[in-house]
Amino acid sequence: MTTATIPFNYPHMTGKELYYIAEAHFGGKLAGDGPFTRNCHRWIEERAGCRRALLTHSCTAALEMQSLLLDLRPGDEVVMPSYTFVSTANAVVLRGGTPVFVDIREDTLNIDETLIEDAVTPRTRAIAPVHYAGVGCEMDVIMDIARRRNLKVIEDAAQGFMATYKGRQLGSIGHLGAYSFHETKNVISGEGGALLVNDPEMVLRAEIIREKGTDRSRFFRGEVDKYTWQEAGSSYLPGEIIAAFLWAQLEEAEKITACRLALWQRYHEGLADLERRERLRRPVIPADCVHNAHMYYILLPPRVDRQKVLEGLKAAGIHAVFHYVPLHSAPAGRRYGRVHGAMTRTDDLSARLIRLPLFADLTHDAQDRVLQTLERLLDR
Ligand SMILES: *Cc1c(COP(=O)(O)O)cnc(C)c1O
Repeated sequence: MTTATIPFNYPHMTGKELYYIAEAHFGGKLAGDGPFTRNCHRWIEERAGCRRALLTHSCTAALEMQSLLLDLRPGDEVVMPSYTFVSTANAVVLRGGTPVFVDIREDTLNIDETLIEDAVTPRTRAIAPVHYAGVGCEMDVIMDIARRRNLKVIEDAAQGFMATYKGRQLGSIGHLGAYSFHETKNVISGEGGALLVNDPEMVLRAEIIREKGTDRSRFFRGEVDKYTWQEAGSSYLPGEIIAAFLWAQLEEAEKITACRLALWQRYHEGLADLERRERLRRPVIPADCVHNAHMYYILLPPRVDRQKVLEGLKAAGIHAVFHYVPLHSAPAGRRYGRVHGAMTRTDDLSARLIRLPLFADLTHDAQDRVLQTLERLLDR
């Protein structure tokens, strides 16, 4: 008997995507900033409580916009975790800046906020917290360092959509934030993202940078009588087809999140006994954080061969994966970045982590198979 493979991820469709795409199609408005884009902007602004939300064609694009908005110059430094996706660092490197990597916390795998201040130099311009797995960084501490040292905070909230820290939405706490709507995230548009502008002084420039460096957005609001080239910018906005798809997803964002949280909790309870027997460690959610079930990961004990566990899962038809190769140890990270302090926890935890299949349409049967397989593989 063969059992179907359980994929690591499967994009969830709400069913309304094609309907809204057809509406955009028949509406004859396909470029960016049409009615669907405006709906998405308003929804995110109300939901996240940010001053301005702007759809982008990816989170990577939103992170690049953050660097342009900060006017990062060659030699400028941005403090960030090494345990993150390449886009956090690329956005800085593309402006000639230097990512400065510090170690992560043992519990959440987020940047260790107690190490940030020591990494600050006269060249430091910003702190880039990354909310790993949709679990908030210690933002109060980070914002306080930024205030005292006159730095900007640029949140990589790619995984943090619909999650909160002390009641505030991730991405809305720093000066700037960024979401991803990539197919692998919770709420999706294939490729897609959003820039969150929380600092009111940066709103106008964000619109300009996103529209090829022109004040086209103001022109369409009737605030200027012609639009002209204002500063260096690019094209970061998605077309209406993408926004129409995303609108269908935003309408269901609560439901998608609730569904993922229930599955996350089911993993969490199902793995409690293995944790008690010290065969794995489960994720830790600090009391100040409400997460969004973006990810369920396990940490293997140091002595366990991760590759063997992944192969065992694969043999049982389960596609589980590891995650980031720490940037400080990657070729480009060594070339462009700088390490501040020890990377002990980054190196150790990243090598022991496995992400389990988690998506809105994961069945309980499939999930039980993952749990039973882990029980068999780790109970040695
Ligand atoms: C997914 C992700 C990104 C990139 O998002 P895209 O929309 O694919 O550009 C950046 N940072 C983190 C932490 C991510 O998880």
